[in-house]
Amino acid sequence: MSVIDSLKRPEHTGENRCLPCTAVNVALVVLVGLAVSVLSPLVGFVVLVGGALAVYLRGYVVPGTPSFAPRVVSALGLAGVFDHGDADSSPDRRSESLDANVDPDVMLSTLLNAGVLVEEEDGLFLADDAREEWESTMATLRKTTDEELAEAVANAVPFDATVDAEFGGISLDGPSMSVWISRPQAIADVATLYTVVERGVDPMVALAATEPMRMFTEVCPDCGGAVEETTTRNCCGGTAGLYDSPEHEVLGCADCGAVVYEFPDE
Ligand SMILES: [Zn+2]
Repeated sequence: MSVIDSLKRPEHTGENRCLPCTAVNVALVVLVGLAVSVLSPLVGFVVLVGGALAVYLRGYVVPGTPSFAPRVVSALGLAGVFDHGDADSSPDRRSESLDANVDPDVMLSTLLNAGVLVEEEDGLFLADDAREEWESTMATLRKTTDEELAEAVANAVPFDATVDAEFGGISLDGPSMSVWISRPQAIADVATLYTVVERGVDPMVALAATEPMRMFTEVCPDCGGAVEETTTRNCCGGTAGLYDSPEHEVLGCADCGAVVYEFPDE
């Protein structure tokens, strides 16, 4: 491995490069470089070249860039300039959902009848025994490797699918869907399928329940940390990073930053 390779940060460069982060950093490098040049042209030159090289190799040079650059860019009204491009040319790592063509009302009444959910005066809740089983299944799945998790997904979905560990998550290619789901989501969804089907629910209805069930998450599927309502933005690592933006409401893990459930846009 060359020195150049060891400096490279593939998670922030190549197809993962975040344009707002890169642009803000280039602008800062130029500003700092010019300011230093006034005092010492040589040092200014070194700052410019070194900074540009760092941005090129590492994606950004200013620590914490992913947490502020997208906000800076959108505050300047430039977000549209850095559209993340069409999904065809750059793989979008935003986690998708397993879905089934099931009427939401039918799904809800089925889950209530099966005792997975209980309706109380102040809303819907996960039944205690269902939560116990759901969380203990998640705890077991938490210990798996990505490859083992992919196998668990393949066994749990009610159709034949090609399932692989890819991009730090799970990609699933089935007869009616082709999706990529994050590891935390895959853990929660497999646990949902087991827990719900075990209570006599049709597997396709259980599949449709995987996304709404994640609303009831209290423990991070992936690390066991506390899940809280927070916000995120699809930038710099997509939904893997929680604290990029105050714009999108999600249930996320306070410990590892995993996004467990995304509230629908109002
Ligand atoms: Zn976590």
